[in-house]
Amino acid sequence: MNWKRTLGLDNLSEEYAFARDESTGYTSAKKIPDHWVPTTCGYCSVGCGIEIGVKDGRAVASRPFAAHPVNRGKLCPKGLSEHYIIQAENRAKYPLLRQNGKLVRVSWDEALSVMVERFRATQNAYGAESLGVLSTGQLVTEEFYTLGKLVQLGFGTSNYDGNTTLCMASAVSGYKLSFGSDGPPGAYEDMERADVVLLIGANLADNHPILCQYLESNRHKTLIVADPRVSKTAMMADIHLPLQPRSDLALLNGIAHVLIRYNLIDREYVNKHTAGFAQLEHFLEAYTPDRVAEITGLSEEIIFKTALLYGRAKAGFIGWTMGVNHSTLGTATVNAICNLALLTGHIGRAGASPFSITGQCNAMGTREAGFASSLPGYRKFDSSQDRAELASIWGVEETRIPTKRGLAYPDIIEAAVAKKIRALWIIATNPLVSYPNQDVLRHALSNLDFLVVQDGYHPTPTTELADLMLPAAIWGEKEGTYTNSERRVSKVNQAVEPQCEARSDFDIFLLLAEKLGCRDELYPGWTTVEDAFNEWRRVSQGRLCDYSGITYALLAEHGAIQWPLTEGAKPAGTSRLYSDGQFQTPDGRAKLVCADWTPFPEQPTAPYPLVLNTGRTVEHWHTRTKTREVPILERLSPRAWLEMNPRDAKLLGLRSHDAVDIVSRRGRVRAVELRLTEITAPGQVFMPFHFAETNVNEVTQDAFDPISREPNYKQCAVRVERSGANA
Ligand code: SF4
Repeated sequence: MNWKRTLGLDNLSEEYAFARDESTGYTSAKKIPDHWVPTTCGYCSVGCGIEIGVKDGRAVASRPFAAHPVNRGKLCPKGLSEHYIIQAENRAKYPLLRQNGKLVRVSWDEALSVMVERFRATQNAYGAESLGVLSTGQLVTEEFYTLGKLVQLGFGTSNYDGNTTLCMASAVSGYKLSFGSDGPPGAYEDMERADVVLLIGANLADNHPILCQYLESNRHKTLIVADPRVSKTAMMADIHLPLQPRSDLALLNGIAHVLIRYNLIDREYVNKHTAGFAQLEHFLEAYTPDRVAEITGLSEEIIFKTALLYGRAKAGFIGWTMGVNHSTLGTATVNAICNLALLTGHIGRAGASPFSITGQCNAMGTREAGFASSLPGYRKFDSSQDRAELASIWGVEETRIPTKRGLAYPDIIEAAVAKKIRALWIIATNPLVSYPNQDVLRHALSNLDFLVVQDGYHPTPTTELADLMLPAAIWGEKEGTYTNSERRVSKVNQAVEPQCEARSDFDIFLLLAEKLGCRDELYPGWTTVEDAFNEWRRVSQGRLCDYSGITYALLAEHGAIQWPLTEGAKPAGTSRLYSDGQFQTPDGRAKLVCADWTPFPEQPTAPYPLVLNTGRTVEHWHTRTKTREVPILERLSPRAWLEMNPRDAKLLGLRSHDAVDIVSRRGRVRAVELRLTEITAPGQVFMPFHFAETNVNEVTQDAFDPISREPNYKQCAVRVERSGANA
């Protein structure tokens, strides 16, 4: 309570004082910083340059970093208000250990000693692989690299994965199968230089808003958006393809069928640089336009038109995000996208690329430096040459490098249900909101002997369940690099000190290594994140993701740089991969993959007649841990809603703003505001996934892509009923 205000002694003059700022003009005096610190946005993978305004040691403002090559002086609403997340009420401040059922404050030394003791005891009793680790796309690359070594060589478990598997694992698997390696081939500028841009399952306007300026600046393109909803991005399109849920793979195969049938393919490119054309041609015979029209709900004419536009384009760009990845057919759909690019030679040239747009700010860093789906530097677990090379750089026995990946995220959860994983370390992620079919997850976590959650925020639904909670520094409080969707490495800088006793994840990993007795072996002489970066540069040298020419000094001088950049090369970076038609396969040829469409796993039935789609809104970030603390974002979007077509609502006797329950075979989400709109087609409903209070993942299904292990978040069968009707 402001007692001075109560007594009439405070007229809030400090609160409302204005002053003149050289960049913004008259503004609140509280928000005029002493200095600005350039860094990179910590939300999404667009990777905008941002400056944090600091006053008296506190972050008070955010503004675009004008010189940054990605965002060209703009930020989206999340970036513009990002400084609020640092001093948020719910920041984790002290290590907390569960004692007699309650989390109580302990010293760092005690916290880390207990963690190492409990993990070691579990591993001694049940085997090294009984320890699982789930990380995130939120750490800096240097931290991923450090963590991967700690988990694999320090704790000796391969059961390590991250929430990136919930997001873009299908893009990774698809690239590996088609091109022989992960690594997005294109660049943002391709959206400006293409004459045809096809976006599939990609609502950029809500999820990657700053990329829309690349589309808008290209006045000569034809923009085609394939999405079951009339999303904000679909509203920008020249042609919207409102296809049936999860029929995108059939559409892509149908387009490829037309391209081959009407000889709109680049035969020279196909002959020189691909393998598998004869099999693909035969396989695609089944994807006739009439069959594809039946599956997708689109007309044959529009399928032809899309194929002709893409096939005749000088430079065709295909972008996708979670609408493709979040599926049991995610990997196959990515392969079908890559097929189109390869058949037409729309790859490795300006404007011509298949291009995955990633989710989190540094999901790319985990893909490159982590130990989850690949060894560091996109090395393959099953390549003895890759393992030997890595072991030799590190000076360790080759036998310590795993020959296959450990359990993927959903398999770690299943292993906890089966009591094979007995201890779990969760880092900067909040599965109690984000994981599909929450019932299974709760069962898994309740089976654990010891759960450690390391996070910048507490309480969250996940930290509340922890046996040990480690408070971590967040964006603005630590240093490192992020890599964005177009392979651009951008510096992350510290603007303020971490809150209370929070420590950077990097420091926590080194302290743990010390407790384990492996710090000198794994991290010889390391004291700063730059030490990790310099070792990572050596590890990546000669690989597709070669960072060897990138240094902190160069990043400070030239801003963000796209990999690969070999040592000594000019700091221009590399806009595109595969410009020479050479792929990362044994014969250098890309693979044309036969990827068959099947209906999505949970079809609607009489008791569950609607198909539920999930997604995001521009104001919020993932599980809203950060953005609910940002007043303007929270006011703009304070609660979840369910979108339904008015025709379905009429049949159900529902009206706009009614409170409804969404019910599936797995659970029920209660009292969600109903919004009636033609954005969503009859038979479908849509709900954002950010809200813990009304968590859509109570009803989503735990069905996963067989290769990438990414969840099929996007389609499950539900019914909608007025709240209280049948509860
Ligand atoms: S588009 Fe993404 S990276 Fe850019 S400001 Fe918004 S959240 Fe940050």
